[in-house]
Amino acid sequence: MAKVSFIGLGVMGYPMARHLKAKGHEVTVYNRTGAKAEKWVSENGGRAAATPREAAEGQDIVFACVGNDDDLRQVTLGPDGAFSALQAGAIFVDHTTASAEVARELHGAAKDRNAAFIDAPVSGGQAGAENGVLTVMCGGDAGAYAKVEPVIMSFARGCRLMGPAGAGQLTKMINQICIAGLVQALSEGIHFGKRAGLDIEAVLDVISKGAAGSWQMENRGKTMNQNKFDFGFAVDWMRKDLSIVLTEARKNGASLPVTALVDQFYAEVQAKGGNRWDTSSLISRLER
Ligand code: NAP
Repeated sequence: MAKVSFIGLGVMGYPMARHLKAKGHEVTVYNRTGAKAEKWVSENGGRAAATPREAAEGQDIVFACVGNDDDLRQVTLGPDGAFSALQAGAIFVDHTTASAEVARELHGAAKDRNAAFIDAPVSGGQAGAENGVLTVMCGGDAGAYAKVEPVIMSFARGCRLMGPAGAGQLTKMINQICIAGLVQALSEGIHFGKRAGLDIEAVLDVISKGAAGSWQMENRGKTMNQNKFDFGFAVDWMRKDLSIVLTEARKNGASLPVTALVDQFYAEVQAKGGNRWDTSSLISRLER
């Protein structure tokens, strides 16, 4: 069993840390809003630290799941950041969806301290975190990865090293590219079906078993038809992710015309107050 800490007890981090504790690891938690860390400890045991630095002291593995690049830099390199306390041989595992650039930067900064950094964004949403069945895509050194993989599997059903530092974040970008265009296509299909006067539930039942079937159709199709958009992954987070994707595409020359367009469609959803709606709310701009 490992001595670990978890920084960032949000929608994702809170249940992920719980799974680590349930598997028998010794868990210290840190959350910027201290009350959440106290609540976590009262429910799960373990210990709450006052700063990321204190959370990292003496740990084998330090996990984090915060918002974006700036938040990640703050909890690692900022005043009272975790990196100032990383012991030699420790491994920092970051589950934030962030840029490949910050992953490479922190990989270097960890190395300077004789520690390691693994970028490890996740897919599977709030339900995946609650049920401990996330998919984790990693970047970093093979030796450090081999040590953390069995611990990550406390809250995942799949975990894979995709390449050097940043490769996990690049893989997550592909995940988001694939979702963006697909959700727009699903929105257009449902919108068209309504205008055509068809029974949408019946349509989805039939076509989801054929070549048009997808996770989004299976899990979100019916609720999109009912204008229900309260299922976790928020439009604000998606726009953050698509901004990371489009910045990377400008660097590597990839052509992403549909992704760029869908990003603008999500901006329209934000403009009508849908910041916290989930990503399936893309259909709402067609149903006006
Ligand atoms: P969330 O509920 O908003 O939680 C964010 C956590 O990060 C909170 O604990 C917050 O602390 C902490 N935090 C943010 N900025 C910080 C800073 N500057 N310093 C210290 N702590 C900070 O977000 P989430 O849904 O768990 O998502 C976390 C990450 O996972 C994001 O990168 C997101 O894109 C990614 N992700 C989310 C999902 C999903 O379905 N939600 C799925 C896959 C990936 P406070 O409590 O003090 O605010």
